Amino acid sequence: MLLCKSCSARLGLESDLSKSSECEACLGLSGKFDAYLEMAAKSLSGYEFSTFWLGAFIRKKVIDADAKLSENKQGIKKALEIYVGEGLERLTGKTPTPVDPDIIATVDTINERIELRISSAFFSGRYIKKSRTMPQSKWLCRKCSGRGCKECGFTGRMYPTSVEERIAAPLIKVCEGSGSKLHALGREDIDVRMLGTGRPFVIEILSPKRRTIDLVEASREISSPGDVEAIGLAVSSKQEALRVDTSKAMKKYEALVSSEGSVAMEKLDAISELAPIELEQRTPNRVAHRRSDLVRVRAVDKISFSDIGDSGFRMSLIAEHGTYIKEFVSGDEGRTKPSLSQLIGVQCRVAELDVTDVEFV
Ligand SMILES: [Zn+2]
Ligand SMILES: [Zn+2]
Repeated sequence: MLLCKSCSARLGLESDLSKSSECEACLGLSGKFDAYLEMAAKSLSGYEFSTFWLGAFIRKKVIDADAKLSENKQGIKKALEIYVGEGLERLTGKTPTPVDPDIIATVDTINERIELRISSAFFSGRYIKKSRTMPQSKWLCRKCSGRGCKECGFTGRMYPTSVEERIAAPLIKVCEGSGSKLHALGREDIDVRMLGTGRPFVIEILSPKRRTIDLVEASREISSPGDVEAIGLAVSSKQEALRVDTSKAMKKYEALVSSEGSVAMEKLDAISELAPIELEQRTPNRVAHRRSDLVRVRAVDKISFSDIGDSGFRMSLIAEHGTYIKEFVSGDEGRTKPSLSQLIGVQCRVAELDVTDVEFV
């Protein structure tokens, strides 16, 4: 039988030959293990990581030839993965970890290259948004879908920036990432400010080359244009991003409400007494183009009023996740029942709205 030294040792079989290129088991692949290790170490050298995993793609012809001889012994694929994996551990001092590693390197022996899959870096915090003209994430021009047209001044977008871009830009730069994805505990409308304690978020930085960064410096950069702040920026995880994506929240709001006539103090006091108020909200007209038309039951848990004048008043309220506040005030042409306008008998609308707290429930 013709086997290379490596296969002869692996399979525990005698060999007549030490020429690896003529090996009947690996068809010469074992002779390239050192070259693969060198290639893998080189391609990982541009990245910061603490855990990795190593895989391999091998021609079926080699797998089949090896399988005839290896039976219940270690196969050629496993042999390559162990050789290169242990070599990398020795060279880099990093730990091979099969579950959620920072990087998965695959030795592609068919195309003679190393393929890297880089896990995202995650950072969490709470954001403040002081602008009434900024969406949470990038909003492409409705007319040209981002290609650029007269309507959008050839920017391809509806708004110059977004909360996501403000938070992500300094992080993408310092992590040398390829992009970002914002995970947030709900969202506010473009014209609604996010104040108080801020909204919980996790920002995901795609394909980062650096993972250990100066968080204080990054928060300073995020906050420097002045319209967005990131409070308590910290290292986070995929699990935390998922929690933020799937959790429900209780929200506190402050609103300036304008009314088409004066409202008696006693009427407003009576409404505060009514809370919690259960609402039936049919999908608002303004979002009907992107949400299915349903009637949802929501609740206003607490509500109070102040600064009552001839043309309006201030309102503070705590409401359940997904409650449409503007529609609760206006009634949305009968689509929200009951509404504040209906309860006090004077047509009202929200002139300015701020979210002042968002908490997990
Ligand atoms: Zn061999
Ligand atoms: Zn456009």
